[in-house]
Amino acid sequence: MIVKTSADEIQSYLIDASNLKGFCDAVYFPENEADVIKILKEANEKKIKVTVSGNGTGLAGARVPNGGIVIATDKLNRIIELSENEKTAIVEPGVILADFQNLVNQKKLMYPPDPTERNCFIGGTVATNASGEKTFKYGATRNYILELNIVLANGDLLKVKRGEIFADGYSLKLKTESGSRYTLQLPEYTMPPTKNTSGYFAKKNIDAIDLFIGSEGTLGIITKIMLKLVDLPEKILSSIIFFDKEKNALNFINKAREITYQTRKENLTNKLDALALEFFDKHTLSFLQKDYSNIPHKAEAAVWFEQEVSLLNEETLMDEWMLLISEFGGDEESAWFAFSDSDNKKIQEFRHAISWKISEYISQNNLKKLGTDVAVPDDKFEELYYHSKSEVEKENLHYVVYGHFGNSHMHLNMLPKGEKEYEKGKEIYKKICMKAVELGGTISAEHGIGKLKTEYLLLMYGEENVRKMLEVKKALDPNLILGSGNIFKIV
Ligand SMILES: Cc1cc2nc3c(=O)[nH]c(=O)nc-3n(C[C@H](O)[C@H](O)[C@H](O)COP(=O)(O)OP(=O)(O)OC[C@H]3O[C@@H](n4cnc5c(N)ncnc54)[C@H](O)[C@@H]3O)c2cc1C
Repeated sequence: MIVKTSADEIQSYLIDASNLKGFCDAVYFPENEADVIKILKEANEKKIKVTVSGNGTGLAGARVPNGGIVIATDKLNRIIELSENEKTAIVEPGVILADFQNLVNQKKLMYPPDPTERNCFIGGTVATNASGEKTFKYGATRNYILELNIVLANGDLLKVKRGEIFADGYSLKLKTESGSRYTLQLPEYTMPPTKNTSGYFAKKNIDAIDLFIGSEGTLGIITKIMLKLVDLPEKILSSIIFFDKEKNALNFINKAREITYQTRKENLTNKLDALALEFFDKHTLSFLQKDYSNIPHKAEAAVWFEQEVSLLNEETLMDEWMLLISEFGGDEESAWFAFSDSDNKKIQEFRHAISWKISEYISQNNLKKLGTDVAVPDDKFEELYYHSKSEVEKENLHYVVYGHFGNSHMHLNMLPKGEKEYEKGKEIYKKICMKAVELGGTISAEHGIGKLKTEYLLLMYGEENVRKMLEVKKALDPNLILGSGNIFKIV
């Protein structure tokens, strides 16, 4: 097993896409589960902190170490099994999501969880319960995880299979492969009815596997994952529509969402049923205008929608969307329509460019990420949106807003110039989180808490509930060696 200690070799493991910087003594590259067990046993005995690393695309500083060692999952990258009949796959955590998606697509299958950044590892997406544009139809990563192997802090191997072990109320009993038993008392908070990846998944009678999904490397190291796949759609209708009035774009999304829910409720086929509903405000569009000259200058907002279609219903569904576009004043002339897979890719690249350019800007200006990841129930979303914008505008900070508005989930990224503006931005960030909580939502819908949002998790669930979360961690990791600084402000 390779162990790297020299500064230039380990440098890239000390950061992630949030631009937080950390430090550690060594980076270990296990090649199999047995290696992970061995490293953890030793680290636990010596009480050495262990941060597990995926591919470092996280936006919350979660894989950034604060001392101790890093276990990098780069070499745990085998696709162990792909069953076309069962529509399942078994993978190691270091498999790159894009590679896996391409492979299953060739078999006419699809793995729906799709954070915009596909260069992440599958293990990282499980540990953050990642989601993305397709979540509007397919839900988050959690929905596709069938089995996990997890190495606990002391090196004990735990295997959890969906549908096999449930909590009795809030008491969850686990038994590892070595026969050790653990009883966990889960916190009794109510999770918001939105996309959510804030703290531990906890509710009455939960399936044990759900506790580990989204636990951000704090409860154990995932070494094997069984995933569920779905059929690859025949074709995807994809379009970006520009609007002269922002309100029209928001209304367009509301209406498309309403029709979609109706279609699904009545189980209708050949009707409008959005796969993705994404929004970009005028600041986002001008941020990208330099690279995309085909963005109309007068556009005040844009919406990207996708729908799965077949050759038979494509035209009918396109007509339905066109009617909706014209009802809400979308500009048909300047719209981008994807007519082929390569057009689809170009639109996806455009969406990726937004998040990527923000990260680049932050890194070039040596700032930390100030991008919200809040989501609220649909009927509260516009209140959150307008409130948040007015808070930033009051302080004259530059910002861009985009995100998964179909899921009432908003990324408002502030672009502060210098430390003074950054401090102001932090206050606004807190206010936006408080507003989301007040409206019954979450402070993190998909990126996780990591090290950058521990303060806001306290706002969301309160000190007592966060303490109870910590008790769960302590039961599995009494020396608190795993994922130090993630979720809990303890280092
Ligand atoms: C441009 C851009 C766009 C993005 N868009 C989205 C988006 O739309 N939706 C979204 O959800 N995310 C998005 N992200 C964030 C990021 O891609 C996801 O959080 C991703 O799931 C992280 O995967 P990773 O392999 O890079 O994990 P890392 O960043 O390396 O780690 C993330 C966390 O997972 C833990 N971890 C990793 N592997 C394991 C393991 N084997 N066992 C236990 N814990 C582990 C780490 O300790 C850490 O806590 C975006 C990021 C970028 C840069």
